[in-house]
Amino acid sequence: NTKISILGIPFTNITFDDMADKLAVKILNKEKTFVVTANPEIVMFAKRNREYEKIIKCADDIVPDGFGVLLASSIQKTPIKERVTGYDLTIRLLEMCAQNSWSVYLLGGKEEINAAAADNIKKNFKGLKLVGRHHGYFSGNEEGIVKEIQNKEPDLVLVALGFPRQEQWISSHLSSFQKGVFMGVGGSIDVLSG
Ligand code: UDP
Repeated sequence: NTKISILGIPFTNITFDDMADKLAVKILNKEKTFVVTANPEIVMFAKRNREYEKIIKCADDIVPDGFGVLLASSIQKTPIKERVTGYDLTIRLLEMCAQNSWSVYLLGGKEEINAAAADNIKKNFKGLKLVGRHHGYFSGNEEGIVKEIQNKEPDLVLVALGFPRQEQWISSHLSSFQKGVFMGVGGSIDVLSG
């Protein structure tokens, strides 16, 4: 897919459905992939913070989460096709995991939020395998989390540590993993827990 630069950030120009299909193919092929759903806040933060900009530029796909990003692209020659929000993409991925018995790991949020989100996911997306979960306020236990993800080899790893931490976490540990879709989902875990 073509990339379109918005304020120097290379967005993948793709529809929501095509993005979901692309990730399904990655899972089927047991490929590893890093997706950033970037809202204007993330774009502006990346402009101020070179290190974070470098991190998100390592993602396989950055998709526009928020009308502001589309608006910024609409004044360019090639506007971006469609908004691809983190929450919608999370739900679609969970639906695909349910249909195909794919496995999911849920990282982040407060312990009770994480536990409730895990319960709701198991209840509402029957068929998927929730192979592990951990709250997002670890300090010493990071290695244990990485080991668990390595062992369980989930098809989808949802990382809800808020930005910029979730993208930093994915980027610094991605090389430890063989496969899986890794995506920062921010506050989506709070919604899923409700
Ligand atoms: N979070 C976490 N660990 C942290 C910081 C945040 O698990 O060190 C969780 C937080 O509990 C919430 C989610 O990340 O469930 C999203 O946080 P926030 O709304 O601050 O992030 P944003 O939506 O701005 O990315």
